[in-house]
Amino acid sequence: AEYCTYLDENDKKLGAFLSRTGAAEFQSALERSRSEASGQNPLRGMPFAVKDNIAVKGLPLSCGSKMLDTLSSPYSATAVEKLQQAGAVVVGKTNLDEFGMGSSCDNSALGTTNNPWDVARVAGGSSGGSAAVVAAGMVPFALGSDTGGSIRQPAAFCGTYGLKPSYGVVSRFGLVAYASSLETIGIISLDTQLLRIVFDTMRGQDPKDQSSRPFSPKASEKRQGEKPRIGVIADIEGLAPAMESAYRERLDLIRKKGYEIVEIELPMLEYVVPAYYTIASAEASANLARYAGIRYGHRTDWADEHGELTEKSRDEGFGDEVKLRILLGTYVLRSGFKDQYYLRAQKIRTLLRNEILSAFQKVDQILSPVFPTTAFPHGDAGLDQFQQKLADKFTATANLAAIPALAFPAGQSEGLPFGLQLLGPEFSEHKLIDTASAFT
Ligand code: GLN
Repeated sequence: AEYCTYLDENDKKLGAFLSRTGAAEFQSALERSRSEASGQNPLRGMPFAVKDNIAVKGLPLSCGSKMLDTLSSPYSATAVEKLQQAGAVVVGKTNLDEFGMGSSCDNSALGTTNNPWDVARVAGGSSGGSAAVVAAGMVPFALGSDTGGSIRQPAAFCGTYGLKPSYGVVSRFGLVAYASSLETIGIISLDTQLLRIVFDTMRGQDPKDQSSRPFSPKASEKRQGEKPRIGVIADIEGLAPAMESAYRERLDLIRKKGYEIVEIELPMLEYVVPAYYTIASAEASANLARYAGIRYGHRTDWADEHGELTEKSRDEGFGDEVKLRILLGTYVLRSGFKDQYYLRAQKIRTLLRNEILSAFQKVDQILSPVFPTTAFPHGDAGLDQFQQKLADKFTATANLAAIPALAFPAGQSEGLPFGLQLLGPEFSEHKLIDTASAFT
């Protein structure tokens, strides 16, 4: 009960939780964990928070949207179930940009989340609530989802680690779909050892998710024991000036630690943002078609006929950014336009993936910025929606290529945390965690 009060008190200035497990439920879950989970398991009795687009039985599953505001989830995501079996206990659901669409949490229809380092600034997004509760020391780890950077960017804004696993390695069953071919559930924490334990606990092929795959790291296990060779992108453009110098300083430090840094070229990087937004919006328009005001979700009070019911329910339930993306998605999929937009974006995706795979012939891991700026202020003083999209270039790369990426704290820039990320070949999660631990 004291811990629950502590969470509620601390959350007053952050606004990171959308819902919290009640003190009595928390207490009984804790007791169940103590009696059922093995005493050997490091996660036994450990509290964690879950982004509110990941299902936890009996808790809301709002996705930060008025559309699902009143929903209570009848089941739990596989990833959550696995953690619960290991003894971890859910303390609440965290804020996000509506359906995961955004980089600030300001696109949430249900609340504003502040950055623990400076409450006038955003915590990032879309998993901003999860990053904020971890950075504030309220929970040892939290789950997020990453479709185009949504774990790593808030992790960087809040000074934590954020792991986006290889596509399919963690089951997506129970993750509300935004862009199915890009997204994965992942972890935010301040502790790399814990990150590893949580990852190893929740990964694994799942019959309930046909896109899930077994974790098979063999292929990337060569050069064991050696220091990985680190690739850096030759000309990084668009970083905020203070970040540019923080980035250069970090590279020097890494060189001084004895790592070989090799410059690589990734010309396809230039096309990442248009390709990502084309594919993500196309998939979003299909995935969000299910919110028709009929089976579940918001239903308008009154309509004359079926078409109007759906139209009004969707108009009232969805926020502006979601509507924009549905429109964009249906546009790029329209017959006659498909070749020009959607299929082209898929080609870019393949070329990017090939380019990255060939880079991994030369280097073991790639180091890059996460986001071109540190946490920006709420509102007009921050970045507008278009600038935020352009800034997804470094993060969305990993989602398009289906590879793992790990954001790690790399110091400060003008008093705010600044993060870098490591990208590796499929299934190199453990190695990324090792390298990031050695760098920090
Ligand atoms: N900024 C990205 C977007 O708005 C983040 C998406 C995500 O990873 N959920 O689409």
